Amino acid sequence: MRLRSAGGGLSAHKTMIRLKYGNTNTYFVNGLLIDTDYAGTLGAFYKALKASGLGAGEIRWILATHYHPDHMGLIGELTARGAGLLLIDTQRDFVHFSDRIFEREKRTFVPVNEGAAKIISCAESRDFLAGIGIQGEIVSTPSHSEDSVSLILDDGDCFVGDLEPLEYLEAYEENAALAVDWENLLSHGAKRIHSAHRPDAVTSTCIQSEKERTIWNTFA
Ligand SMILES: [Zn+2]
Repeated sequence: MRLRSAGGGLSAHKTMIRLKYGNTNTYFVNGLLIDTDYAGTLGAFYKALKASGLGAGEIRWILATHYHPDHMGLIGELTARGAGLLLIDTQRDFVHFSDRIFEREKRTFVPVNEGAAKIISCAESRDFLAGIGIQGEIVSTPSHSEDSVSLILDDGDCFVGDLEPLEYLEAYEENAALAVDWENLLSHGAKRIHSAHRPDAVTSTCIQSEKERTIWNTFA
């Protein structure tokens, strides 16, 4: 999916693209790549990139929603080719989580070099993103894993990685951590949810249905 939109302000121009070249949705927003697929998918990645009309040089920064192997497998290779790694401080201790998995599977991969990363806190993310042409914020959503974060754009597009869907809240007896994450996202204005493994980019849980409102009201 390729979507270019203008609006919401004098300089607000957004290019949002979903790249699928394996099992993980990778998103591109104004120079920022959100997640990569597994190690060993670099060829498929470049093919998908070309098909989308993007040039490799357009990837200026990479953010992993978390450091499980199906979300960060290409980071080492892409940063070695010039992209910057945006690392949230809560992720720092997890960047090598998947190394041993790739080693065991004898995958081609380059370990993340966190020493070269730009490390910021979620509180600093709005200013950093504004500086690279993205209006939005990164928030910690640790119910899936301690290092999980979500990117919420001011226009409502929200990239959540492996966060379980809002609908699951009703299915579970007790999932306080998931409820807290959704409360946080909704209070930040998340409207269109882009998940890493759901079939389409705008797997839009548009947070508008009566049922979801009810769930939301229970937080208030
Ligand atoms: Zn995943």
